[in-house]
Amino acid sequence: MQRLTSFLENRWVDGQAPHTPLHDATTGYAVAETSTRGLDLGAALAHARTVGGRSLRALTFAERGAMLGELARCLHTHRDALLDLSRQNYGATRSDGKFDVDGAAGTLAFYARLGADLGDRRFLLDGEAEGVGRSARFVGQHLLTPRRGVALHINAFNFPAWGMAEKLAVSLLAGVPALVKPATATALVTWRIVQLWQEEDLLPEGAVSLLCGSAGDLLDHLQPQDVIAFTGSSTTGRTLRGHPRVVELGIPVNVEADSLNAFVLGPDAEPGEPTFEMFARELVHELTQKAGQKCTAVRRVLVPVHLLDDVREAVADHLSRQGLGDPASKDVRIGPVATADQHAAVTKGVAELEAFMDTFVAWEGDLPDHGWFVRPQLFLTDQGVHAAFVHDEEVFGPVATVLSYSGDPAEAVAIVARGGGGLVCSVYSDDAAWATEVVGELAPWHGRIQWGSAKVADQGMGPGTVLPGFVHGGPGKAGGGEELGGLRGMRFYQQRTAVQGDRVLLERAFGTA
Ligand code: NAP
Repeated sequence: MQRLTSFLENRWVDGQAPHTPLHDATTGYAVAETSTRGLDLGAALAHARTVGGRSLRALTFAERGAMLGELARCLHTHRDALLDLSRQNYGATRSDGKFDVDGAAGTLAFYARLGADLGDRRFLLDGEAEGVGRSARFVGQHLLTPRRGVALHINAFNFPAWGMAEKLAVSLLAGVPALVKPATATALVTWRIVQLWQEEDLLPEGAVSLLCGSAGDLLDHLQPQDVIAFTGSSTTGRTLRGHPRVVELGIPVNVEADSLNAFVLGPDAEPGEPTFEMFARELVHELTQKAGQKCTAVRRVLVPVHLLDDVREAVADHLSRQGLGDPASKDVRIGPVATADQHAAVTKGVAELEAFMDTFVAWEGDLPDHGWFVRPQLFLTDQGVHAAFVHDEEVFGPVATVLSYSGDPAEAVAIVARGGGGLVCSVYSDDAAWATEVVGELAPWHGRIQWGSAKVADQGMGPGTVLPGFVHGGPGKAGGGEELGGLRGMRFYQQRTAVQGDRVLLERAFGTA
């Protein structure tokens, strides 16, 4: 069986027995094992902080960008092998694996271009110099410099490639080394990628460390200039934010957590017209892609009462064209959920939904009798803001709930806002006045909103696709974090300092904005 080691202090190290197994989601057989027992995580962080930080800060933005470009190229070169591993470990269909691996390469390439644009500098200025004294000579200028610590990147199980890359691209371009900790159950792809990067010698020493397996006492060794970028459940997010060392040192923690993302269909939608078709197509895509295991997948679907029958018909039609089963088969679009725990959690969530709602529409067909498969389905309720479970619990699989409503914009806003803040919301309408009200009122509750309408109905990749130039994150229940968004994402890894002094000396030292 494949043994997944960790890459710490510039070498591959194995933890002590017993090792934790990783399984094939389609068959349930163990495919690899890993352990972090007995590893010196304090020394690993210190090495990254000192050696990695120094080597990255010695590079200009253009050089860091060129390095990211090489990381992206390497993923592209080994794409097919990585897609095979994605299927073996977490049951990814080819298109689900591509979504992860190509998304990782695309994000690295995006930040590579950003680095090239920033050129031969090693830090950034923020805004213009402003006067602070009686004469124009005494000014203040905001300066952005890389933090002198290590970034702890703790990732969720559902995106072993992209989840790592979307954090690393930003952190490395900012000049901050990272220790990556993938979710244990799906670490195989992450491990192989870091191995490939090391084999090709694409990274300066200490820039990227990898911890495969449990976090152990990692957080006890944090230092004041370190940061944590976390993706996962709100429960773990709360544990990390409340860790005594994090609280004592004021360590910044970026949390990307659960999100009850909503689709809102406007009352003006006409079945058969582009906006309605866009809604139905994207709804089924977001329900079934990666078997619903995306933080941006749809969980709540607001449909005006008069359109319920049309939506049911359109969704049933799209669902009937989705093959479900062995992800190795070319015709299969929907694979299993990633782990036995995940299967148990989704099954429990479905039972809770079934307890007070009827099925609205479901994928028809037989589920395979082995592996961790879940039937894609939508439930229906007319309880609006009062359907507490639907607004509070994220069932992390191919499952969502249709909430019927009157079409009134204020009612739609109240129902969506009941979710407590999300990553992305999608609004489908060609009624500009109606949609302006809904989008404007929902914006404070979300990191991103997609407004689908006739002129853009055949474009875009669906609201669940996170693009590196736009912020990813959301307020409230979604964790309150913000990642990506081009240069915006780098702020988390930089210290902003107002430097006050003689304008001429400051310009000589740091240049102008
Ligand atoms: P999880 O159980 O919270 O685990 C996430 C990561 O945290 C894993 O690497 C896990 O390691 C680690 N971890 C758990 N306890 C820890 C501790 N005490 N100290 C340090 N690390 C710890 O979440 P998950 O089941 O992997 O992911 C599912 C959740 O992630 C869903 O709720 C989903 O919405 C959310 N998600 C959000 C986004 C987003 O961008 N907002 C993206 C993807 C997923 P082990 O695996 O070793 O336990």
